[in-house]
Amino acid sequence: MLINHCKKQYIRKKPKTNTYRDFEKKLDRVFSEYIRLSKSNDGYCTCVTCGNIHHWKEIHNGHFISRSVKATRFNEINCNPQCVRCNSFRQGEHHIYRKYLINKYGEKTIEDLENTAHLGGSYSAYDLENMISEYKEKVRKLKIEVDNGN
Ligand SMILES: [Zn+2]
Repeated sequence: MLINHCKKQYIRKKPKTNTYRDFEKKLDRVFSEYIRLSKSNDGYCTCVTCGNIHHWKEIHNGHFISRSVKATRFNEINCNPQCVRCNSFRQGEHHIYRKYLINKYGEKTIEDLENTAHLGGSYSAYDLENMISEYKEKVRKLKIEVDNGN
């Protein structure tokens, strides 16, 4: 395949602007760190669906309601530490996950969460930008507490 060098250079020189998707990706990353750090015990997280314990860096942020649903993508109740096996290879163990959440938050809270997802809606780019700063600061503090900044 031929590479068009002129075009490539032109793209590189374009001013860097953040698109909605960029904000979403950045927030995904920092929000995932926040969930795993804030729900850890001295940096170790328990998988919400199988109970196995992993270091926060070796566990996923598992979404109860799929990450593709924007209305609940950054909801702290909807997101919990979940091991790679449960999250990736067992489709999130939805049934067990729901039981865990009901046990922890009560049925009403989980039904409200499901209704929020059902109603839809999404964050504005402005919201995402603010949430990125907010969670970055929270993660910075948690890393000092949990992991001595590592
Ligand atoms: Zn698991």
